[in-house]
Amino acid sequence: MRKAIIAGNWKMHLGLREAEALLHALRASCETDVIDVVVCPPFTALAAAAKILAGSSLGLGGQDLCWEPQGAFTGAISPVMLRDVGCRYVIVGHSERRTHFGETDEIIHRKLRAALAHELIPIMCIGETRQEREQRKTFEVLTRQLAGAFRDCERWDCARVVLAYEPVWAIGTGTHATPEQAQEAHQFIRQWLVKRCGAPIGDAKRIQYGGSVTPANAASLLQQPDVDGALVGGASLKSEAFGAIVKAALDVKAAGRPAR
Ligand code: PEP
Repeated sequence: MRKAIIAGNWKMHLGLREAEALLHALRASCETDVIDVVVCPPFTALAAAAKILAGSSLGLGGQDLCWEPQGAFTGAISPVMLRDVGCRYVIVGHSERRTHFGETDEIIHRKLRAALAHELIPIMCIGETRQEREQRKTFEVLTRQLAGAFRDCERWDCARVVLAYEPVWAIGTGTHATPEQAQEAHQFIRQWLVKRCGAPIGDAKRIQYGGSVTPANAASLLQQPDVDGALVGGASLKSEAFGAIVKAALDVKAAGRPAR
């Protein structure tokens, strides 16, 4: 049985005081051992977040990392630094990193390896653009991104990664994938993993959906047999909205999901 994981990606939002207020509110409303709940604030709020979340069930994650542990990489944050500040997770390969910062499949592969080498749990994002979907290239793009990221990775390394299917056209647009579209992509990803790593790893892999998840659509997405959680952007900046998405995941867990 896969444990659902709901993660909030705050992106480049919230000053320190606002971040602290949100963290206190989340600590009060999102504690649970039934599913995993993770917050990924900006780097500037990580130290404060680690203090506020100490002893709680909420996990802490970075939004990006450098592939090197230290050195002359001005502006970058290393996996060692993320560990040092209290992170257990790190987002890798978000489409905004690919688009705005030119991250290639090769760079993402190096970041994934660095995260794994330093015992961080990567939340690795993959997904197609609107144009790629319209050209019926979704599976081709997912295959390329998966193969590039996991190149040379041992099966037990693949097992430690959380995947996030994030269609680029759904991120921050208010247009989410339909539950059927999400399920189709997640099932494809799982089957790819089963072929690459074997059934025990593929079947156990947690695959989040990301892209305009809100309290209104969370339940229908999370009820899909291969959707094991959500990576939430905009709605993670409000404690009520994020708390409602966490509650939707708990309700789905209590009710059970249909088998595929
Ligand atoms: C994201 O940033 O990963 C994301 C899914 O954003 P949003 O929920 O705002 O679409």
